[in-house]
Amino acid sequence: MSRVYNFSAGPSAFPETVLQQAKEELLEWRDSGMSVMEMSHRGKHFSIIAEELESDLRDLLNVPANYKVLFLQGGASAQFSLIPQNILNGKTKACYIKTGAWSEKAIKDAKSYCNVIVSASSEDSKFTSIPDVAGWQLDSEAAYLHYTSNETIHGVEFSDIPESQGLTLVSDMSSNILSRKIDVSQFGLIYAGTQKNMGPAGVTVVIVRDDLIGHATKTTPSVFDYAEQAKNQSMLNTPATYSWYLVGLVLKWLKEQGGVAAIEQRNITKAAKLYKAIDTSSLYRNPVEVAVRSRMNVPFILADESLDKPFLAAAEANGLLELKGHRSVGGMRASIYNAMPEAGVAALCEFMTEFERTH
Ligand SMILES: *Cc1c(COP(=O)(O)O)cnc(C)c1O
Repeated sequence: MSRVYNFSAGPSAFPETVLQQAKEELLEWRDSGMSVMEMSHRGKHFSIIAEELESDLRDLLNVPANYKVLFLQGGASAQFSLIPQNILNGKTKACYIKTGAWSEKAIKDAKSYCNVIVSASSEDSKFTSIPDVAGWQLDSEAAYLHYTSNETIHGVEFSDIPESQGLTLVSDMSSNILSRKIDVSQFGLIYAGTQKNMGPAGVTVVIVRDDLIGHATKTTPSVFDYAEQAKNQSMLNTPATYSWYLVGLVLKWLKEQGGVAAIEQRNITKAAKLYKAIDTSSLYRNPVEVAVRSRMNVPFILADESLDKPFLAAAEANGLLELKGHRSVGGMRASIYNAMPEAGVAALCEFMTEFERTH
């Protein structure tokens, strides 16, 4: 067996020890006599898995008691429509910040439910910047203000929580949740698909303040009504049980690493190393404004496009996979989530230097 360094944007690399544990427990979980996949979601064994999952996430993110933590299906993409259906609460407007491909999608879907005000956009810079908060056009009658804390495709990340002038703050944290410390109490709602930084695909985490739920529109499906799911511990219907279990293992791994504060330090080191390799070369270039560069997703362009294919082929030959950039941006992208070890980033930087020397 030879495992590669996987720089995929999602689904993405797992901590290897977690995969090993899952393998060991595949046929029998603890002394249950069965695999997690075979368990009733209402049985005593799975109840332990579900309880630990929620309490570990609450611990890691320091989630205040007046917030619900939901584990839903449909991906972060389903939330683009479900957020307005659940929390508009009779209001007709919502503010959105447009900073890349994912916030664009959130805006597109929200338009079916409310009057979307695009309070700021970095489209003019081809999504390589974040508009200065001082210039955001916020509407005090809006039900909430939505932003994407890390734009996975464009490699743009908010380094601070923006000032929302009293509006309920909603954030898509799919690609940077658990990668840096956040103060949950500043948000009305946080959501994230699990397949980037928390485990496998199949679960969407929604962290929502109590007072925002219980106002879903009449046509909201009950499995997507936050209040209904909260009342039923996210088990109104059969949850993605095996994915819950795997997310749970990843959270336990993260705790062993020292939690969010410790992994954040490692993420800072990894990102700095990769950006330095890019900035000090004449072959590679990252187009994003330095202050808003993502620690998780690092896009880079080669000065000569005809080298793209040889670069990817040589990288693959060196065990460095999934470096091709998103089709809308081109070039390369290295996703270096929590589970990417420092040795993986070091191997990539070394390879890039060597490739430049020989081309
Ligand atoms: C991947 C991603 C999504 C979409 O997630 P799905 O689970 O595929 O719906 C949404 N927002 C961001 C920021 C993402 O990175």
